Order: sequence, then C-alpha cells, then structure tokens
Amino acid sequence: MKPLTEQDIRTSFINCSKGEAKRLPMPRDLDERPWDDLDFLGWRDPGAPDRSYLVTEREGRPVGVTFRFPSSQRGFLHRSMCSLCLTTRPGGGVSLMTARKAGAAGREGNSVGVYMCTDLACSLYVRGKKVVDSGARFEESLTLEEQIARTTGNLAAFVDKLYV
Ligand SMILES: [Zn+2]
Repeated sequence: MKPLTEQDIRTSFINCSKGEAKRLPMPRDLDERPWDDLDFLGWRDPGAPDRSYLVTEREGRPVGVTFRFPSSQRGFLHRSMCSLCLTTRPGGGVSLMTARKAGAAGREGNSVGVYMCTDLACSLYVRGKKVVDSGARFEESLTLEEQIARTTGNLAAFVDKLYV
C-alpha cells in the first residue's frame, strides 16, 4: 500500500469520534514500515493493551478502524485461525477483536467481531516475511497473489460490515 502519514491516519478513522482519532497513539515507526508488503497498517496501543488499530484502503482512500479485545473472565478470547490471512496459530496469537460500527449504528453500540492475528502482521505472514513459531500456514494451492487477494478481500468484507 502507499505509505501513510500521521495526518492520513488520523483522518481515516470511520468508527470513532474526531476527538478520539486525535488522541490515538500513532505508530512510531511509520518510516520503517515495509509498505510494499503491507495490505494494511496495523498497530497495538502501548498504553491500552485491549486496543488496536488498522488502516487499509477502500476505493483508493485510507480507512481506519479502531478495535477492542473483549476480555472474557479467562483473558482474551482465542481461536487458532486468523480469519483474514488464514494463518493457523494453535498456541495463541489469534484474538477476537471487535470494532464499533461506523455512524449511527456504532453510536447505538453495535459492533462487529473478527478473529485476527493479535500482532496485526497478516500481510507479512501471507508473504512469508514473518513466520509463526508454533503452527503454520496450511498448504496452499493458491499463488501468493491469489492469497494476497483473498486476504484483502476478507478485510474488505469485514470493513463493509462496519457500514451496514
Ligand atoms: Zn492474520
């Protein structure tokens, strides 16, 4: 994806208030992110471990989403496969994240959940630039390009749900 500036990121969020977007912690390593290998920019909130953020592109424009990890009594909810990049991580590493919907539906408290790599590095797993310790990506018959298209398609489908 095209490199993003802090300004791009702050103005991209669709599911939080302008005030919240202004206060969000920006990733400190924007200059060093491997943009060519990213389908979306994702980062965790160092000051609030139950929050994370991602910015992707929709119709050529950056679209940012804020997430929370809904904590169960036993901690974060885990499942073994990321629903975006389909990396399997039986030892943990995939968490349920919920995003408030955009607009009025979100203000009324509606949200959408997605099981996703907790480190938000899906783009790198798909490309083999980052490898998980336990578990693996299952044998793929798809080409890398097809896998990337599938991941971005899954993400786009999720983002679309936020607008419904
Ligand atoms: Zn993933």
